[in-house]
Amino acid sequence: MLNIALFGPPGAGKGTQSKKLRSSYGLVHISTGDLFRKHIIEGTSIGIQVQEYIAEGMLVPDEITLLMIEEQISAHYEDCKGFLFDGFPRTVTQAKALDEKLEKYGSSLSLVLSLDVPREELRKRIKKRGLEENRIDDQDESSILTRFDLYNSETLPVKSYYENQNKWNNLYQKSTSSSTISGLGKCRGHKHEHRTPK
Ligand code: ADP
Repeated sequence: MLNIALFGPPGAGKGTQSKKLRSSYGLVHISTGDLFRKHIIEGTSIGIQVQEYIAEGMLVPDEITLLMIEEQISAHYEDCKGFLFDGFPRTVTQAKALDEKLEKYGSSLSLVLSLDVPREELRKRIKKRGLEENRIDDQDESSILTRFDLYNSETLPVKSYYENQNKWNNLYQKSTSSSTISGLGKCRGHKHEHRTPK
């Protein structure tokens, strides 16, 4: 299996890059943000529990996030070539739990792709997305600041966790027009067979 985690601050373009990787490599895309928003729209018990965290730009508690991930992995494991985790893991606890979960299935995370984008570009993208997708967390200045702060304090420590496993890959993007991920051949941790991307 080819299991990839797409990592990056709010507004880095994880969703856009996911679409390209998903179609090139035939992976099952698991975006925790998209899944939470779906739960909120459908008014499920997860949706009710997470909506305030998301509106305020806080991280959803690990227990809820991990339960949702577990459900997704077990639902798709049998018939997929691998997973593309988008916006997950976002804490070291989540990263360790993901390793354990994949190990249970005799698999592991292959590599991490980190999207590195200048802060001013991130702000521009978030504002634009807030209007286009009507996301309240993208329209509220204090929610945006909280997300950047939590990215630095809770999510960035995940980097050394994966650097120690030699799975970390930095992809720097100066602006929206910068080139996107094309192939994974030179990425650290990438040892798996895959179809050549178009
Ligand atoms: P962004 O790229 O702007 O961070 P996402 O759609 O990835 O947007 O996430 C939106 C929100 O969903 C986050 O601000 C957070 O509240 C919640 N969320 C998403 N993924 C996770 C996660 N792995 N752990 C905890 N909370 C999460």
